[in-house]
Amino acid sequence: MSQPTENPSHPCNLSDCSMMVLLVDDQAMIGEAVRRALSGACDIDFHFCSDPQQALSVAQQIKPTVILQDLIMPGVDGLDLLKQYRAAPGLHDVPIIVLSSKEDAQVKSMAFAHGANDYLVKLPDVIELLARIRYHSNSYLTLQQRDEAYRALRESQQQLLETNLVLQRLIKSDGLTGLANRRYFDEYLEIEWSRALRDQSELSLLMIDVDYFKAYNDQHGHVAGDEVLRRVGEALSVSCTRASDLVARYGGEEFAVVMPGTTAGGARLQAEKVRRTVEAMGIPHELPTPGSAISVSIGIATVRPVLNLQPMSLVSRADEGLYLAKRGGRNQVAVATDKVEVPLRS
Ligand code: GH3
Ligand code: MG
Ligand code: MG
Repeated sequence: MSQPTENPSHPCNLSDCSMMVLLVDDQAMIGEAVRRALSGACDIDFHFCSDPQQALSVAQQIKPTVILQDLIMPGVDGLDLLKQYRAAPGLHDVPIIVLSSKEDAQVKSMAFAHGANDYLVKLPDVIELLARIRYHSNSYLTLQQRDEAYRALRESQQQLLETNLVLQRLIKSDGLTGLANRRYFDEYLEIEWSRALRDQSELSLLMIDVDYFKAYNDQHGHVAGDEVLRRVGEALSVSCTRASDLVARYGGEEFAVVMPGTTAGGARLQAEKVRRTVEAMGIPHELPTPGSAISVSIGIATVRPVLNLQPMSLVSRADEGLYLAKRGGRNQVAVATDKVEVPLRS
């Protein structure tokens, strides 16, 4: 077998060649004749393989844009080789022109049935050979370019999709704590409010504020203060595990938990659990007394929404509860006792 060789008499720069012809034929004389026929074509690079046993690996190595293939060769069934190209990685679509020794309808039909794209009788007229090589190579290259363009398109669509997902997550989350941000809190409260209105179910809200946090910042600096906010956020997340609960950073050192389908009693239990979890972290703080730990005050509100009542009324009520908890000495849970007033229709 001759190794794939570049045409030594090629008159042009090989890097310009886009067409690559692989001739598989056991007869050196045919190899030489085809080489000579193609020698004037600057756009065609030529490789000759005289050992049919090596044809597949040579083809995979040189990546031809068209294969010229003899049918009768020692040790290998030419028709079988056609099938092997079709099954080989990277060669599936490479056009194959069978170079047959005779014009025989049955052989021709078998060749096409085994995957050939064209059929020429040896030795073909140079003009015809060049025309067919160019035609098949160009179709193949166009197909390759189209496949590559589709692949790139699919890849960029996938990247776009992933970027969109990341953006959506970022748009909804708070940078410091990773919790839902205020924007998403408003959106979620609105959605759950409408659902509760439809279902006539109860909706609870906790407003949570870190106690004496300004003093903590003043004493330990903002970086340490940020770390406390992160840890309080984590404590809230681990305490509120219901899939429908939304833990959000409401702003500054205030957090909120939206709890759909939760009664006043359930919300109270949940708030107490949150308060205890934060206290149990034992983050040292000098207020209210030296040796204290970071704590939170929590206001609770529960409502069964009615028409003409806005979601923000729930926030106001929870805020009132929070005010009571602060006034009552902090590190505690409180509920505003006033009934929610339904505004009159105008
Ligand atoms: P109270 O117990 O009444 O809630 O007192 P407080 O000191 O916690 O409340 P105040 O509203 O006086 O102070 C809140 C502090 O929270 C002031 C502000 O600097 C701090 N803060 C707000 N947002 C951030 C933040 O993102 N990082 C840090 N480190 N501090 C913040
Ligand atoms: Mg505050
Ligand atoms: Mg505070």
